[in-house]
Amino acid sequence: MNQKETTCGICHRQTILFYKETHQSHTLWECSLCSGQFWDPMKNPGSEWYEKDERYSSRNQNLRAKPERNHREFLSDLPRVGGKVLDIGMGTGNFLSAAKASGYDCYGIDFDRDAIAAARTGLGLSNVYPLSLAAASQKFGSGFFNVVTLFEVLEHLENPEDVLRLINDLLNEKGVVAISVPHRNCPAYLKPHDLPPRHLTRWNEASLTKILNRCGFAVIRLKALKIPLSYLITKFHFWSRGVTSFNLVKKMTPTGPAKKNILRKVIYGILPTVARAKDWLLFGLPAFVLWIYVLLRGYRLGLYVLAERNKTATK
Ligand SMILES: [Zn+2]
Repeated sequence: MNQKETTCGICHRQTILFYKETHQSHTLWECSLCSGQFWDPMKNPGSEWYEKDERYSSRNQNLRAKPERNHREFLSDLPRVGGKVLDIGMGTGNFLSAAKASGYDCYGIDFDRDAIAAARTGLGLSNVYPLSLAAASQKFGSGFFNVVTLFEVLEHLENPEDVLRLINDLLNEKGVVAISVPHRNCPAYLKPHDLPPRHLTRWNEASLTKILNRCGFAVIRLKALKIPLSYLITKFHFWSRGVTSFNLVKKMTPTGPAKKNILRKVIYGILPTVARAKDWLLFGLPAFVLWIYVLLRGYRLGLYVLAERNKTATK
């Protein structure tokens, strides 16, 4: 069946859906009205599933303090918005930590209690809570925030429109929302994690603009993020895992009495740089060839959008 007439999982309108692909028991459909792609069944697997997923469980131990590329897109955006920012799905708070340093009044929520605890003790963030968006919206009330951010979160949601409408309500008159998602114009071998039940929707420029417009936002800036050469180097590292790795970082991790460990600590400090240099030396050339290829094919890694609240969202 290549198409069917039914209700869209994203915009909830009666529409024609086009078949795109199948993954295990999930089918990917594209809506002819909102251009959104969603996996059917469109069901978030819940917090227990995420706690078991290695992409998320390791982050609370290895606290990442630096802002990522999508975070930097927002923080370097001019004119600067300023004021109160709410980061939804804040993880361990690396974005909020950078936003705080830039003068924002920071608030954050995440369903992962361990991540919230790590953000409080490790990064000194105080207004962070293990709350759902619905509970946060009760706590703070309409028009409380100047900015709401949603970095790599929208694609996990089973009700993206409801969430954007709640965000619209939480923002003040000229508030903005900043969102980043994986770009759907990216081959599967470069983003093997972009599958259900982890991700439930896939986005491009048109579908992201349409959902924002429907939820009462006007796009200020929309940017497709190119695939960096460094990303392809890490992919080659992953593909060759075990073959070229001596596991030195793990072997040299300092343990036992501190004095005996000084040399180990020095070596441990420089090992990540040495490991990175090794990867560039080994994989630089093939990664460069692949980089030229993905550039010519017009593939993109992610999408970043900044949108302004221009009207109250209506059902
Ligand atoms: Zn739709």
